[in-house]
Amino acid sequence: MKNLYIVGALGSIGTQTLDIVRQFPDEFRVVGMAVGRNLKLAKELIEEFKPEVICLREGELQLSYNPITYYGDEGLLKIASYHKYENETFVNALVGISGLLPTVEAIKAHKEIALANKETLVVAGDLIKALIKEYNTKLYPIDSEHSAIWQCLQGEKHEDIKRLIITASGGSFRDKSRDELTNVTKEDALKHPNWSMGSKITIDSATMMNKGFEVIEAHYLFDIDYDRIDTILHPGSIVHSMVEFNDGSIKAQIGSADMHTPIAYALRYPHHSAFNSKGLNLLGLKLEFKELSQERFPCLRYAYIAAQKGGCYLAALNAANEAAVSLFLNDKIKFLDIEKIIINEIDNPIYSNYEYTIENVCKLSTEIIEKIKQTWS
Ligand code: MG
Repeated sequence: MKNLYIVGALGSIGTQTLDIVRQFPDEFRVVGMAVGRNLKLAKELIEEFKPEVICLREGELQLSYNPITYYGDEGLLKIASYHKYENETFVNALVGISGLLPTVEAIKAHKEIALANKETLVVAGDLIKALIKEYNTKLYPIDSEHSAIWQCLQGEKHEDIKRLIITASGGSFRDKSRDELTNVTKEDALKHPNWSMGSKITIDSATMMNKGFEVIEAHYLFDIDYDRIDTILHPGSIVHSMVEFNDGSIKAQIGSADMHTPIAYALRYPHHSAFNSKGLNLLGLKLEFKELSQERFPCLRYAYIAAQKGGCYLAALNAANEAAVSLFLNDKIKFLDIEKIIINEIDNPIYSNYEYTIENVCKLSTEIIEKIKQTWS
């Protein structure tokens, strides 16, 4: 029996994780659940899974039993460090930098990590890897691209890898020119052509910052230098990513655009689980690939630049993006201001002065987000 702690349980990844749990009731037990502001859904899911420990963002729940109840950011850390059973897995489906400290606490509590919160690896990849080693636990990706690469690498030798090729659907604005982006609205941006996801990651897909984050994530997960991680535009979202080997062979993982697949793979690795997946009809299938231009998508270019600078520049990259996306979603800035805000931070030489520690990453992130929000509000 795997004992699960799911934080961000009401979001897109959280609810799909619970779908997988429902399909394997003999394998999974939900011990902990952290929920957001939708109290109606929270009550429904907590009553269904009866976790012994819960964390609420706000408000009160009238429940038919009495779970240990924590609140807010402190509560997330308490859920992460709660440790009672063998074989515990922490499913981190939080959005943004708020996912970092819960991951750190969960590792220290010897939980395995199933990570959908990519910002954790973006801002603190080296530090998280060191902790995973120190506490002798494991970290599995839930992102579809990294799940694809992970699947392609089964049975392969690291020395045989030539490069990783991360596919990008292109986001909501893939067919628009730079000029046409000037006056796009958040409503336009939130219409992703292939994937149904939360609002922050949908905007990150439209700016291509999401792909930049995924390059950084891949670097840490698979130990490959940045100059051997490429991105390619693939509008169909059929090929979820690829690995090219030294002999020219390319392995790809393909399937329908359904996050249940990478979630189930992370939770039941190395099994390819039988669940109610949509499947993929191969008949008539055409695969299209195009260059993903870093001129067209400066956020992607700046992700590589920040990654090469390393250390606290990655915290600056993420914080600038979090602040900018939040301003855009609140109608305070235009779409193209997002990249301006990010470039401004990454061109700032100050971040090389900060020592790269979890504490500094958190402190700096809060400061940058505050500063940008004050400047633009
Ligand atoms: Mg992804």
